[in-house]
Amino acid sequence: MVLPPHFLYIEGMDFRPTLQLACNEALRYLENLDRTTVAPIADLATLRSRLAKPLGDAGSPPEQVIADLIRDSDGGHLACAGGRFFAWVIGGALPSALAADWLISAWDENCTLYASGPATAVMEETAGAWLKDILGLPAGASFGFVTGCQMAHTTCLAAARHAVLAAHGWDVEDRGLSGSPPIRVLSSDQRHGTIERSLRLLGLGRHCVCDIPVDDSGRLPADRLRAALQESRGMPAIVLLQAGDLNIGAYDSFETLIPLAHEHGAWVHVDGAFGLWAAASPRHRHLLRGADQADSWATDGHKWLNVPYDCGYAFVADAKPHRAAMSHREPYLTHAAEGRDALDYTPEWSRRGRGVATYAALRQLGRAGVAEIVERCCRHARRLVNGIGALQGAEVLWEPAINQGLVRFGNDDRTDRMVQEIVASGEAYFGATTWRGVRAMRVSVCNWRTTDEDIDRAISAVSGVLRSGE
Ligand SMILES: *Cc1c(COP(=O)(O)O)cnc(C)c1O
Repeated sequence: MVLPPHFLYIEGMDFRPTLQLACNEALRYLENLDRTTVAPIADLATLRSRLAKPLGDAGSPPEQVIADLIRDSDGGHLACAGGRFFAWVIGGALPSALAADWLISAWDENCTLYASGPATAVMEETAGAWLKDILGLPAGASFGFVTGCQMAHTTCLAAARHAVLAAHGWDVEDRGLSGSPPIRVLSSDQRHGTIERSLRLLGLGRHCVCDIPVDDSGRLPADRLRAALQESRGMPAIVLLQAGDLNIGAYDSFETLIPLAHEHGAWVHVDGAFGLWAAASPRHRHLLRGADQADSWATDGHKWLNVPYDCGYAFVADAKPHRAAMSHREPYLTHAAEGRDALDYTPEWSRRGRGVATYAALRQLGRAGVAEIVERCCRHARRLVNGIGALQGAEVLWEPAINQGLVRFGNDDRTDRMVQEIVASGEAYFGATTWRGVRAMRVSVCNWRTTDEDIDRAISAVSGVLRSGE
C-alpha cells in the first residue's frame, strides 16, 4: 500500500521541530526589530510570487511548511511590534501575553462554555474583575472578551438596543426591529468608524445617528446634546461618548453629559478603545471623572495593554440586558451552574480563550505597571510631537494630552509627501489623517517597547527627511 503524501501521519508525528522552529523565528524577529526597517520592504508582486503557490494534491511536512512560510514572508511584515511605529494606536505584545497567547492555541479549547475550558473560564472571570478595577468601572458590571473594540461596541449596543426598546414595551430579541419604535443614536461627529459598522450590523443603520459637532477642545458640548435629547423626546435613545478620540485623544465631560443623558432616559455607551486606559494612571485618571456612571463601555486589550490580537472588552453596568442580548441555551451543550459560560456575554459561539493573554499581561504588570505603560507612552508622545514641531518646516497642530498628537508640514501636499518619505526611510512609521479640514501627520504612542532612544531616532528621521527636501 502506498501512503498518500499528505503528512497526516499519527505515528512519528512530532510537534517539537515545528514549534521550536516557530519559537526560534519569533525570538529572532522580536530581537531584531531595532535593526530592521519599520515599513515592509517586499512589494506585492514579490510576496505573491513567493507565497501564492499552487495548492497541489500532495502536502508538505509541517516543519517544511513553517520554514517556507518564514522565508517566503521575509521583508513583508510591518514592524509595528517594535518601538518606532506611531501610525495607528495598535500597540505591541508583552512577553507574558504573547506566551499566553501561544498556550491558548496549544490548549486549543473551544472556550464558549465553562465545561469546554474550565481553567480558561476562571482566568477570564478573574481578568474581567481585574479590568474593572483598573479601568475604574463598577464592580458589578458584566463583561465579555471579544475580538476587538468594534465587537465590544456591537455587544454593548446590542444590550443597549434591548434595554431602550424594552423600556418602550418592545422585546427586540423576539420581535426584531421590523415595526419597532425607531432608535435615535446621539453621538459626537468625531466618533470612530467602528460605531457605524456596529450600528449597521445591529440593523440600526447609519441614519439613526444624529451627529453633534464637537467644540474646539474636541468635546461634545452639553447644550448641543441637551437640544438633541429634547428633539428625541419620547424615542428610545442611545448616547455615544468618547474616551479618547482617534485624532487628538479628546475626552467628553462625562460628569456633565451622563447625568444629562440619563435625565432623558437615554442609554450611555462609552468608546474608550485606548482612552479608557487613562484610568490606570493617577496622573491622567481625572479625564474619566464620572465615566463610571455610563451604561456600557468598550475598550481593547490589543492596543494599550499590549496583548496580541484579537482582544477587546465589552462591559455593561447591568448584566440583565447584556445577557438578554447574548445568552443562549441548548440541550446539547453543558451549561455551568456556577462557572462562567462566555456564551452568555459574547456574540461568538466557538471562540478561543482570549482572556488568558489579558490575565497574563495584568499579572506581569500589576496596577503600577499598567499605569507606567500609560504614562510612559504619554510622555513619549509629547516629546515626539514637540520634538518634530521644533524642526524647521514643521508645526504642532495638537500637543498630546495623552498619547495622541498631530503635526503638519506647511500644506496638505507637503504633509502627505513627508509622511510617505518618513515611512520610506524605514526609520519610523506614521500615518496621515484629515483633521478639521487639513491634512496632518498623526502621532500615536502605545507600544510598551518604545524607548527614549526610539523617540530620538524618530525625530532624527523626520529631521533628515525635512533637510533632504530643502
Ligand atoms: C481602534 C479604535 C476602535 C476600534 O477598535 P478595534 O479593536 O480595531 O475594533 C474604536 N474606537 C477607537 C477610538 C479606536 O481607536
